[in-house]
Amino acid sequence: MDKSMDDIMALCKRRGFVYQASEIYGGINGFWDYGPLGAQLKKNLRDAWWNDVVMTGCNGQMGPDGNPVRIVPVDTCIIQNPKVWEASGHVGGFNDPMVDCRACKARFRADHLLVYALRDLLDESHQQTAAWLGVGTIDEVKEQHRKQIDKFTASVGGQLVENTAQFVKLSDEDKASLGCPNCGQKGQLTEPRAFNLMFKTYVGATANEDDIAYLRPETAQGIFINFKNVVDSTRIGVPFGIAQTGKSFRNEVTPRNFTFRSREFEQMEVEFFCHDDDSQAWYEFWRDWRMQWWQSLGLAGENLVLREHEQDELSHYSTATSDIEYRFPFTAPGFGELEGVAHRGCYDLTQHKEHSKAKLEYFDPKRGELAKNGQPKGEHYLPTVIEPSAGLDRGVLAALCEAYTRDESRPSPEIMQFHPRLAPIKAAVFPLVNKDGMPEVAAKLFADIRTRVGSSGFVETDAKQSIGKRYARMDEGGCPFCFTIDGETLTDQTVTVRDRDTGSQERIGIDRVPGYLCEKLGV
Ligand code: ATP
Repeated sequence: MDKSMDDIMALCKRRGFVYQASEIYGGINGFWDYGPLGAQLKKNLRDAWWNDVVMTGCNGQMGPDGNPVRIVPVDTCIIQNPKVWEASGHVGGFNDPMVDCRACKARFRADHLLVYALRDLLDESHQQTAAWLGVGTIDEVKEQHRKQIDKFTASVGGQLVENTAQFVKLSDEDKASLGCPNCGQKGQLTEPRAFNLMFKTYVGATANEDDIAYLRPETAQGIFINFKNVVDSTRIGVPFGIAQTGKSFRNEVTPRNFTFRSREFEQMEVEFFCHDDDSQAWYEFWRDWRMQWWQSLGLAGENLVLREHEQDELSHYSTATSDIEYRFPFTAPGFGELEGVAHRGCYDLTQHKEHSKAKLEYFDPKRGELAKNGQPKGEHYLPTVIEPSAGLDRGVLAALCEAYTRDESRPSPEIMQFHPRLAPIKAAVFPLVNKDGMPEVAAKLFADIRTRVGSSGFVETDAKQSIGKRYARMDEGGCPFCFTIDGETLTDQTVTVRDRDTGSQERIGIDRVPGYLCEKLGV
């Protein structure tokens, strides 16, 4: 079944998953708010990550060294000393080349535009395009294009890609002066301009140049700059990871595709520090385990892929990187990145060491030459880093897209088949009718299971409307189980359990409900 993004977005709005930010003022491009169900869904995904990655060290799996994986969390500031971003390269290098159409005011990333220009017609006439865009020779452009087309297609989305198809059909003469992929007008595109993605702000009251600070574009740097603090204040030692979740901000040139490319978003990142000799094994461990983790939350099947980067796609400091990608309705048949797992060498710690002059070397007592007593003398080194960096909002979006199901044979055809762990509503308790003692029994069961379910999700109760309508409402909210109190309950102490995905019903004893629910939810 092809899922329609319009349907999914409409359901998200109607049922309180996602709203346009500042909607009553006309919205603000690239920003989204989560409603009650969305906030809980997002929390559940964040909590699953926190539990499985941080608290249980990759669900209790042994690392490649045969020992438990050790991870500790931090929670660092969104605003840091601006020197952090000079060291990390974000002030100097975090630029996207941007091109505007003077006619329709559409804005493009020049590299996306390049894809449009070269999509089908990779011939010499594009030499000019390549030079104009300042991206190197036509051969380099072709190669770049071949590798990245899927990725770009994912990030530009359906509408522009359709327009692109028209754009590339322009005659040879027209091609000489590039047309705008949006409005088709030629000769209206500006020269590319470098555009830094970091949001600027001022710290303090004077608001002059010296007070400029930046909202973090990633959570990772807050981890690197605290590496030494964590080592010094805990008993943890290499190999170990530091984890953080939190908001990041990027002034994206073209935010689009619902929450996929937003200007404010949340990340879930681990920087895993190990000795360089062991780094390839740790890289493979993280890459494979992260893929399994997303699968365990219901993103199984062919919509999820692990894509290893080719050598010439890698950053200069990285020896291996892979992306975990999901086939969103707006990227299909292509994929969009959910998480990147990168072998970053010791690039980040080296940068911070050089810029801050702080001593960031780690002393590893378990390594080095053996002393006379047969014990290692120890070794000082800058650890190598493996970085699994996931987008929480993109994860939520993938969960929403994966869950969205239409079954026209059901009275209300839209069903959100969330994995039970992620489902924002865990259960509902309904009295079949609002009389004959049923509401009282329902109220007691509701109170009981609400306490058990705790912060993992809502338990709903509702006595109004027909039972069919109440079930349909729960299907749209993705509630996996509904328990209904009816006439039989009053005589034999049983209730019906209705399963969201099949619509089937069975009877169980009312006293078994909490246990049944906990077992099914895995809580
Ligand atoms: P892209 O190529 O899509 O711009 P990226 O490679 O720049 O992403 P990273 O810097 O590796 O992304 O960030 C790690 C993760 O943060 C990504 O895998 C993604 O899930 C998330 N992320 C990055 N940018 C955004 C954004 N603008 N909106 C939502 N999530 C984002």
